[in-house]
Amino acid sequence: MATLPAPAAKQVQHDEICDVQTTSCCIVGGGPAGAILALLLARRGISVTLLEMHKDFDREFRGDTIHPSTLEILDQIGLAAPLHSMRHSKVSGPVINFPDGPFRPFDLTRLKTRFPYILLVPQSQFLDFLTTEAAKYPSFRLIMRANVRKLVEENGVVQGVRYLGPDDNWHELRAPLTIGADGRFSLLRQLASIEPVKTAPPMDVIWFRLPKLPHDIDLPGGLLGGIGPGRILIVLDRADYWQTGLVFPKGHYQELHAQGIAAIRQTVVEIEPRLAKNLESLTDWHQLSLLSVESSLCPCWHKPGLLLLGDAAHVMSPVGGVGINYAIQDAVVAANLLTAL
Ligand SMILES: Cc1cc2nc3c(=O)[nH]c(=O)nc-3n(C[C@H](O)[C@H](O)[C@H](O)COP(=O)(O)OP(=O)(O)OC[C@H]3O[C@@H](n4cnc5c(N)ncnc54)[C@H](O)[C@@H]3O)c2cc1C
Repeated sequence: MATLPAPAAKQVQHDEICDVQTTSCCIVGGGPAGAILALLLARRGISVTLLEMHKDFDREFRGDTIHPSTLEILDQIGLAAPLHSMRHSKVSGPVINFPDGPFRPFDLTRLKTRFPYILLVPQSQFLDFLTTEAAKYPSFRLIMRANVRKLVEENGVVQGVRYLGPDDNWHELRAPLTIGADGRFSLLRQLASIEPVKTAPPMDVIWFRLPKLPHDIDLPGGLLGGIGPGRILIVLDRADYWQTGLVFPKGHYQELHAQGIAAIRQTVVEIEPRLAKNLESLTDWHQLSLLSVESSLCPCWHKPGLLLLGDAAHVMSPVGGVGINYAIQDAVVAANLLTAL
């Protein structure tokens, strides 16, 4: 994997550019969209630089779902088998428990595919996997701790970006194409004055992990849903733990927070009494992470020299857990179009 050149010896002034480099495609954001696009372009011998602001891919829970269509794409480039050799779990269909009995709204095992399930792999490991694969191609370059702050624009055409590098210096990366794959709060989208149209599904979710215990609940299909007054419970089978989500009406977070963690445990146990023992580990509000649910769509997701992909272009509703899948589909379409030129 290529690394940054050694930091310039002289002390650079604030905002002074310490070096200017070039690439064919500058991708900002090492999430699923950016990582897949970088891999696909690198495989075609196109020089591509992926800039990621964090030091690694370890991140708070942001979904780990790899859908059948994505597995098929990975299979086409020979990566489905190595991905399946990583520690994973599978979901083929949820069971939702209603007071009058269980209901299975869909069943992926009926799909005509080699992969009739959603594969669950921690997103950090999935991103490591993709960028490690990409690093096998000499035209790929990954720069971690590259915090992109500015677009380089000349005569209305985006020509690249400026970022604060791991050496705390400003760097310029010039490219005929810049990709904004920098997620739902995309700075590139903002700098390009592209306005998303927001829609707010009337719900929010708090996510937390529950430990697996001996003689634990059994989840046929790998996913359980349950409904209580004003609440929906989701339990996903992860290899080592239960990923649990509690969906509640938007705007009620402060109220839930004021009621405290015991009230969360009580709500969950009322919906799914079999989790009572597992819930004893939930003792601190910091174990919860809030997903403020919103969705949005940029009616136009490009301008000369710049293309937005994934959440930067459209934040999906969490229903169905499709955000990662859509981000990857964007990247595949973009790679196909770009390499067909
Ligand atoms: C709590 C939660 C749960 C979710 N659950 C699911 C789920 O179960 N299934 C599902 O499919 N989707 C889920 N999603 C949505 C999913 O995470 C996104 O749709 C998906 O990650 C979008 O991929 P992306 O590559 O477009 O953007 P992201 O994954 O957001 O990646 C953007 C990357 O850009 C980097 N970046 C941002 N700004 C800069 C900058 N200025 N310079 C350099 N780098 C930058 C970020 O560090 C990040 O790595 C969930 C989201 C959340 C918040």
